[in-house]
Amino acid sequence: MTYTLRSALIPVEDGYATVDVQIEDDRIAAIAPGLPSVGTAIDAENKLLLPGFVNGHTHSPQFWQRGLIPQLPLELWLADVFDTSTTEVEKTYLGALGTAINTLLSGGTCVMDHLYLIAGQELESVAAAARAYKEVGIRAFIAPLIQDLPFVAGYPEGVQTLPHQPYPQSTADVLATMEAIVAQSHAPDDGIYIAVGPTGFHRCSDALFEGLRDLSNRHNLCRHTHLLETRSQKMLAQERFGGSAVKHLQQLGFLDHRTSLAHSIWLDDADIGILAETKSTVVHNALSNLRLGSGIAPVLKYLQAGVNVAFGCDGAASNDGQDMLEAIKIGSLLHNITDPDYQHWITPHKAVEMAAIGGFTGVNLADQVGSLTVGKQADLVLYDLKNLSLLPRTDPIKLLVLGRPNAAVESVWVRGRQVVLGGKLQTVDMAHFSQTIFNDGAGYHAPRYSTIHQVEAHYRRVMGLSECGETMA
Ligand SMILES: [Zn+2]
Repeated sequence: MTYTLRSALIPVEDGYATVDVQIEDDRIAAIAPGLPSVGTAIDAENKLLLPGFVNGHTHSPQFWQRGLIPQLPLELWLADVFDTSTTEVEKTYLGALGTAINTLLSGGTCVMDHLYLIAGQELESVAAAARAYKEVGIRAFIAPLIQDLPFVAGYPEGVQTLPHQPYPQSTADVLATMEAIVAQSHAPDDGIYIAVGPTGFHRCSDALFEGLRDLSNRHNLCRHTHLLETRSQKMLAQERFGGSAVKHLQQLGFLDHRTSLAHSIWLDDADIGILAETKSTVVHNALSNLRLGSGIAPVLKYLQAGVNVAFGCDGAASNDGQDMLEAIKIGSLLHNITDPDYQHWITPHKAVEMAAIGGFTGVNLADQVGSLTVGKQADLVLYDLKNLSLLPRTDPIKLLVLGRPNAAVESVWVRGRQVVLGGKLQTVDMAHFSQTIFNDGAGYHAPRYSTIHQVEAHYRRVMGLSECGETMA
């Protein structure tokens, strides 16, 4: 399709400029004032044009756990998440659809879905998410969340102390499943990319990391994993490796320019140096980190060391929404309290760059998409400058990041295809979707959790918390 956006406002070095943008097929063909219209003319007057953002870390099936899980630290929260995870492939499909819709309507055009797989239906789980993403029209990386160590391996002293069974699948079987998933669903030409996604060193053997590294090399797949999200995980790294988990991952050859690392909170200066050296990306999920009390990632230090940083929402069980503009706002403002030197703070203009080109750098597509550049693929978002939340006419990017934008996304194109128009999804019947989700729930019942009772006393002991007290459901 060929079209021309007429009179769009775009950010430039010293403020804003009004330009026309020609799109041919899926690419930006020209950007300049006063261009002739090619193809369909689209009125972009009084609208702000930005490149699409990347929701750099999420778990789409957690769509069903929005508003569900009590306030708990990660290690106990996880127990409740596993007790209430969906086991229906259809819900995996709907969760991916919901995640994509929320991402698109908050300025995102790409998602990195660290996807929970339903046991015994691993290929079907991935196929369901891929189907949803293709239907809605978002660009999607699907990193199947895999591990080969038991649940208790995620706790300091867990394997030695807590009763457990070995992980039900061998490392070789897990890798064979991943190979089959790549063959089934990796389709870059359709905007669907499989990435390798070991849960994290706390649940994965070295052999699994090495096998996934090799798979990534064979098919040029991105690599995605959780890294040092909690103090407990840092203690675990000390116990298991006698030191740095980051150094260990580097020695395994897992870190490179295709690697994005969710959270990355408990790193020291030497670790940060390794991320810079290996050109790894950090995905910052500030809202989830606050929800779970995980800590504050040293993002200003990352930026000063030259480490690429992107933003993510994380799954909706630790965010309860999936709003990219909210993730950017909290993820950038949070750091003002970590460094008194205000010259280091993340400006709103820098924040939207991190969310766009930073995000696409993290998925190894920065040369293809992620900025308003001639030749790049058209992943574009128009914001309505007459929307009350973007008024008065001061600085729309400041209002977008520091304000509280409400339904400000007017149009979205992904790979040149329009998927949102007039603030409405063009690819999904929203009323039908909402009714489907509503129909699923029979009421408002708190679930019964069991796994937490097997690990809570142990967790409190290793973390030095008092023995008294009952966790609220
Ligand atoms: Zn996560």
